[in-house]
Amino acid sequence: MAIIQCSRCGNDISDLAKICPKCGKINFNYKKRGIILLCLVAITILVICIFYVVISQNYKKYRNSRIKDTIEKLETSFATASYKEIEDYIDVLDSLDYDTSEYEKRLIEKKQNDILAQYNNAYDNFNFEEMEVCIKNLDALNYDTSDMKAVLEYDKKNYKIAKEYRDAISNLYSKCRSYSYSSLRSEVNKVKSQTDSIKNAEVNLKSRVGKYINKIQKHVLFNAFNSQYLYSNQFDLDYGLTSSSYAIIIGDYLEEILKEEL
Ligand SMILES: [Zn+2]
Repeated sequence: MAIIQCSRCGNDISDLAKICPKCGKINFNYKKRGIILLCLVAITILVICIFYVVISQNYKKYRNSRIKDTIEKLETSFATASYKEIEDYIDVLDSLDYDTSEYEKRLIEKKQNDILAQYNNAYDNFNFEEMEVCIKNLDALNYDTSDMKAVLEYDKKNYKIAKEYRDAISNLYSKCRSYSYSSLRSEVNKVKSQTDSIKNAEVNLKSRVGKYINKIQKHVLFNAFNSQYLYSNQFDLDYGLTSSSYAIIIGDYLEEILKEEL
């Protein structure tokens, strides 16, 4: 606060006084200060506004370019990169307030597809342990595995039956083709016992094993080969298990059945 003189009466007054307490004249100094203060406030607000606009426009530009850049990287990473890298890019988009729900969905689908490929690969080798692991991992991703579980349970029970049948057929086939008669009757009997298991096996058409068993059960030659006569001693007497014509005929039968892949 400073002391000034009233412009009318010369009285000492405070520069903060609105009017001269002696003559009542308005203190213009006070008014000026008010106006200056008001102007300062207005300028400050204006400067802040301008800063805000400039900064927010710059941020917008920065945000847009970062989003564009990150999306480009994300698209390529979906084809080649690790889940971690993809997740990191999604996090970047998240931090930029970008809606990432679509990418999160795609990442889950990618994980599911990768596991499904692994599952199919395991199924090609009938690796039930690995199939079980895959199903557990798919469960964790909320993938509906109820069919897969049913198939796995069925296969665990029936794969051995199908495999042993096919192996028995295959053994008998190679014996017939090489005209090695010595243990032909015992090989025929092995096929017969496996054949009975196949005949009585349930069918699950969602399973590869089930499809195989179904094809064999309906196979014309399976039923022909399955006739009791074939396994009887009478058959041995009529055709003789040591005759090459038997080997050729039965070999041809078996070759047809072997065309069905397990
Ligand atoms: Zn005065």
